Amino acid sequence: MPEELNPFKIMQQQLEETADMMHLDSEAIAILKEPMQSVTVNIPVKMRDGKTKTFTGFRVLYNNARGPGKGGIRFHPEESIDTVKALAAWMTWKCSLANIPYGGAKGGVICDTKAMNEEELENLSRGYIRAVGKFIGPDIDVPAPDVYTTPQIMAWMMDEYSKMAGKNCFGVITGKPVEMWGSEGRGDATAMGGMYVLREAAKAQGLNLKNATVAIQGFGNAGNFAFQLSKKLFGCNVVAVSDSAGGVYNKQGLDYDKCIEAKQKTGSVQGYAKADKITNEELLELGVDVLIPAAIENQVTGSNADRINTKILLELANGPVTPQADKILAEKKILDLPDFLVNSGGVIVSYFEWVQNIGGYYWTADDVYKRLDTIMTRSFKDVVETQKAYAKKGAMNARTAAYVIAVDRVMKAMKYRGWY
Ligand code: NAD
Repeated sequence: MPEELNPFKIMQQQLEETADMMHLDSEAIAILKEPMQSVTVNIPVKMRDGKTKTFTGFRVLYNNARGPGKGGIRFHPEESIDTVKALAAWMTWKCSLANIPYGGAKGGVICDTKAMNEEELENLSRGYIRAVGKFIGPDIDVPAPDVYTTPQIMAWMMDEYSKMAGKNCFGVITGKPVEMWGSEGRGDATAMGGMYVLREAAKAQGLNLKNATVAIQGFGNAGNFAFQLSKKLFGCNVVAVSDSAGGVYNKQGLDYDKCIEAKQKTGSVQGYAKADKITNEELLELGVDVLIPAAIENQVTGSNADRINTKILLELANGPVTPQADKILAEKKILDLPDFLVNSGGVIVSYFEWVQNIGGYYWTADDVYKRLDTIMTRSFKDVVETQKAYAKKGAMNARTAAYVIAVDRVMKAMKYRGWY
């Protein structure tokens, strides 16, 4: 049977496996298997040639038992309702695992931002908010940036929502520029959170991170900061990095500034001079101490998982490992740390931004990182404790343990609220 790559079906499969393990109530599973609310909107936008083009967008509120929805807005040419639904579900588990007072949500618009000028982008951003305005709000559902959406776009969206509400609503959206009441520390929050998990995992594995070899797939926001921070915080040796054009490898290590220079001058890290060119597939199979997929989903699958050779697989991207690969990695005893644990730093600092907006009192970067560290470390330890608690019934991988914690908390909230 061909491997299932539809992200929503994958999410449902992961949920069913967790439900089996936890002997969950079938009524509760039925609630959790589908989003509570899924909105499709069509947005007319005035383009530079004077014509109006209609864009399709989505906003999915997956579950709000534990608090308002929370999740980014993606502007992507291949956006689909199934991807948005899956990502909204994963946001529900992510916020629950981090134990922050949110449910899960996600949004997206089918569009090619590279083909749009700034005015068109602003018109689309404002149009999207007018279309989904009644479904979002600081106490209802709080969006944030995601693929191809920026702090500037968040500022336009906040402004549009505030106009509709007739008052400033800074807490309606997070990931705003710091000057527009965004939070300190949001820029590198995802990678920083991942680094705190890596530190704890390495401790647990007895792996010394100083000079540990690291390969990173992706050199965008997440991968770029992971490169910098793993060197700066732990002295790791980043030996390979890639982008959509391919990667580079040098077993002596890569220089971060030269990677940036190569990217700026040639458009890809492959322009890096003193390294071998490799493909993205080869990068994954290099054999390093720490492998960090930080690009896109479905990279480690049933067809290459047996060739993955690493001590720690740190899933900074969303959905980089498929369920089939999960089983193979578990057999190989590779510590695969799941996306919704590893990359939760972004949403946690988004939560801090919302708290600061609502309280009108702003924290230093130091405050932010300390509080982030506390939550990431707690989440990692919760996962390890859950694995231990289930050990008598057989080995449980970190993803399943994270699911068990997250789903259990959402179920308890639904139960207390009398939803089933
Ligand atoms: P980004 O757009 O800044 O960077 C993506 C990187 O991946 C780029 O370097 C791009 O060249 C590369 N890439 C694209 N297609 C590729 C392919 N086929 N093979 C290899 N590389 C490819 O995105 P980002 O914000 O860094 O996000 C990366 C991943 O991390 C995504 O899965 C995203 O959902 C996840 N994530 C990001 C954040 C965040 O705060 N940025 C938070 C949570 C999760």
